[in-house]
Amino acid sequence: MTVFNFSAGPAVLPREVLEQAAAEMLDWHGSGMSVMEMSHRGKEFISIYEQAERDLRELLAVPANYKILFMQGGALAENAIVPMNLVGHKAQPATVDFIDTGSWSAKSIKEAKKYANVNVAASAAHTKYNAIPERHTWQLSKDAAYVHICSNETIDGVEYHYVPDVAADTNGAPLVADMSSNILSRVIDVSKYGVIYAGAQKNIGPAGVTIVIVRDDLIGQALPVCPSAFDWKLVADNNSMYNTPPTYGIYIAGLVFQWLKRQGGVAAIELRNIAKADLLYDYLDSSSLYVSRIARECRSRMNVPFFLRDESLNDAFLAGAKDRGLLQLKGHKSVGGMRASIYNAMPIEGVRALVDYLKEFEKQHA
Ligand SMILES: *Cc1c(COP(=O)(O)O)cnc(C)c1O
Repeated sequence: MTVFNFSAGPAVLPREVLEQAAAEMLDWHGSGMSVMEMSHRGKEFISIYEQAERDLRELLAVPANYKILFMQGGALAENAIVPMNLVGHKAQPATVDFIDTGSWSAKSIKEAKKYANVNVAASAAHTKYNAIPERHTWQLSKDAAYVHICSNETIDGVEYHYVPDVAADTNGAPLVADMSSNILSRVIDVSKYGVIYAGAQKNIGPAGVTIVIVRDDLIGQALPVCPSAFDWKLVADNNSMYNTPPTYGIYIAGLVFQWLKRQGGVAAIELRNIAKADLLYDYLDSSSLYVSRIARECRSRMNVPFFLRDESLNDAFLAGAKDRGLLQLKGHKSVGGMRASIYNAMPIEGVRALVDYLKEFEKQHA
């Protein structure tokens, strides 16, 4: 049976990548070693690392005045690492602005409060996070060290389809984005951001790698309490090898970057992601059994939460899906209902199979 895995993360990886990794598991390119067994300072691993960095830079057109760091701790650790690195040059405690659009921005806020005064400039909590607060409602601080957004709320299913402008929307403060669940899914202009960070396990590779893309002038402002291994300056000066990086995860991420280049790059995958999301949302909108509760203009292309109007059918729905090889569709416990995550590695065939099943189940329960 063909299986389609709709997990929100760790999530589906391209089959070709897993096959290549399997083929190279015991002996990478005639080196006689598995990538897991290589010194991170040896020429073999350095070549893997440099290729991954180059490919990611090319895929996202990362300008030369930005560093790409391969770190550890996931996006949740980076929620602390970001304020620790960005407020050291300010009078303490510094102020930082947040836009609260869902579970993940709420977690970012909680963590930043340990290192700074947090001003929640806007929050969608009162509408159960079904939309992004409009820009003109944001109550920004005068001198924030940065403005933080979560570009795609993995749990709630809302996504920014524009980039806040530093002059007009953030009062001149650098824009920081948690892009864990939509990085590489759409074309972005990196120069509009001060910092982009992302845990790998949604669109990049296995859990354990965190990508940080940071503008040069924002490096070197860490608080004295910042652990050395998390100080962007030390990490950047040592090409992400201040301490041992997550070598195997970086290798798999590198294979995913090569796969993405073979797909035609980010612009090509974005078109496919739009087609996949449209297919699913169009059916949900036409249905009387299912409903999407997210405002149309900020629906996520990556994570699609939806509900059965009759929630007593949830278990039957999930059991039938599993029988058809449609896996991990249960919604996050904080939201309930269902969630289909349709990251880059989910082929359109998977979304078609899901929509076919949605139709069939709807017919049975009309
Ligand atoms: C998954 C996710 C995180 C958490 O990542 P960890 O690797 O578990 O720390 C944070 N933010 C967003 C938007 C996510 O999707």
